[in-house]
Amino acid sequence: MSDCIFCKIAKGEIPADIVHESDDLVAFRDLNPQAPTHILVIPRKHIATLNDLQEEDATLMGRLHLAARAIAEAEGIAGRGYRTVINCNAEAGQTVFHIHLHLLGGRPMGWPPG
Ligand code: AMP
Repeated sequence: MSDCIFCKIAKGEIPADIVHESDDLVAFRDLNPQAPTHILVIPRKHIATLNDLQEEDATLMGRLHLAARAIAEAEGIAGRGYRTVINCNAEAGQTVFHIHLHLLGGRPMGWPPG
C-alpha cells in the first residue's frame, strides 16, 4: 500500500529505529513508547488488521511471534516477562492499519488492560 506508513518503514522509505529484519518481517521501536521496551513487529506484507488474515498467513504470523520471542531475549526481558498485543480496529485502539505486534516489557503491567 503506497500510503501506509508501516509499508514505508518496511521499504526503508521513512526512518525507524529498526532492531530486527528478515525477508518477511521488520521490527522497530515505537515512536511513543508505553514501556521501557516497546517494539513493533510487522510483516512486510500489507495486512490491514487481524480480521484480514488468510489461511496462507499462518506461517507468517507464527514467524512474527518467534521474532517477538527472539527480540524479547535480545532485550533482556524474556525471563522477567513481557506482553504482546495486537490491537484490531477502533474499539481496541488500532490507529495504524498495517498489522503489528506490540512487544512491551521492562516494567510490571496490570491486568485487565485499559
Ligand atoms: P496501534 O494503536 O495498535 O495501531 O499502534 C500503532 C503504534 O504505532 C503506536 O504505538 C504508535 O506510537 C506507533 N507509531 C506510529 N507511527 C510510528 C512510526 N513512524 N514509527 C514508530 N512507531 C510509530
